[in-house]
Amino acid sequence: MTSNAALIARRNRTIGPYSPLFYDEPLQFVSGSGAWLTEASGRRYLDGYNNVPHVGHANPRVVAAMADQAARLNIHTRYLNDRVIDYSEQLLATFAPGLDRVLYGNSGSEANELAIRIARQQTGAVGMIVSDFSYHGTTITLAELTTGLQTREPLAPHIRAFRIPDLDTDSRPESEVLATTLAELDTAIRSLQEAGFGVAAALFDPLFSTEGMPRIPAGLVDGIVQRVRAAGGLVIADEVQSGFGRTGSHMWGHAAVGMEPDLVTMGKPMGNGHPMSAVVTSEAVLDQFGAHNEFFNTFAGNPVSAAVGEAVLAEMTAERLQERAGELGAVALARFRALAERHDFVRSAKGTGMFLGLDFAVAGAAAPQIAKQVVEGMKSRGVLISRIGRDSNVLKVRPPLAFGATELPILLDALDDTLSEV
Ligand code: PMP
Repeated sequence: MTSNAALIARRNRTIGPYSPLFYDEPLQFVSGSGAWLTEASGRRYLDGYNNVPHVGHANPRVVAAMADQAARLNIHTRYLNDRVIDYSEQLLATFAPGLDRVLYGNSGSEANELAIRIARQQTGAVGMIVSDFSYHGTTITLAELTTGLQTREPLAPHIRAFRIPDLDTDSRPESEVLATTLAELDTAIRSLQEAGFGVAAALFDPLFSTEGMPRIPAGLVDGIVQRVRAAGGLVIADEVQSGFGRTGSHMWGHAAVGMEPDLVTMGKPMGNGHPMSAVVTSEAVLDQFGAHNEFFNTFAGNPVSAAVGEAVLAEMTAERLQERAGELGAVALARFRALAERHDFVRSAKGTGMFLGLDFAVAGAAAPQIAKQVVEGMKSRGVLISRIGRDSNVLKVRPPLAFGATELPILLDALDDTLSEV
């Protein structure tokens, strides 16, 4: 095994030091299986963080499907192939009627970029609305609307951001929080209109993951959707983190929050690590886009990707992963709530399904140093988690859905133990 120091030195000389590594002392993994990862030293870690290996690290069904299709044929979508059509039918069957067309990409960024391009052409407007602490990808369009991660790109002139409130930290009455948030959105919309940009779309994660899973006022999502539509814009649900059954209650985050988007983007868990993404929309929206654009993306929607996507869906069904996310998530949230009761520095327990968090605060002020200590403390107990939110003070527990009844107590006991030490 190469020492961390030697590998980091080589890393800095090649890919550079700018993609941050997790942990004071980073981890070098050599293999994975299910919800477990093995370090070069042989130590095993429970993965409570990564949502890409959705149906499990190195999932045998996915690996076999990938290898089998790669050994026979891999070709692009300018030739007929039934594999991508089979997969598209299966994927679209998970959406409500009306969301019945799909275009493929290779990353969440590509999917969001395409959704924005479609929205701009559909509406003739360019203005975009996002939340003021969000992340949607790496392209220049997306860097120019990034508010929740460091980027050199300033917000583009046609971007307006508004704040998603959190009832767990906001002491005002819910109705007042709702009214001020929607008033801020109204101002953003008016400003785009007055500047001549119009409103092409609002782009947001239905669970507001990057924002730190805020507990939002009832009626906020409806209020956003109504206002954006009234201004002529489309609504894009970014399901890169919230999709594929993670909420437990629904396959899609937008369905879990009762939202009916015009476009849905997805990536990360879709290919269990194989790079694939998609935009799902309606026939009318696709026809309008298609009337002006011949869409072709070399690697997207190839038979190997389709085989992988099918295997992910099959594994989800066979292992009841969405249902399990609901069942285990409820157990986990109850325990998180008990921890919040027990420890003064836990302001609230957050989450839906297998996407959970604890918000740390001391004397009313966000406590990122506690979150960091807990993330490191969990690591020393062999469990991987992370933290999010505008103050980096919310634990992010978002394991592969191949997380079982055996794994959950290990994570919960480690967390209990770690918090007792804070
Ligand atoms: N949207 C969201 C909500 C994300 O979390 C991410 C990745 N962190 C992206 C988009 C971008 O996806 P990708 O890195 O695959 O381009």
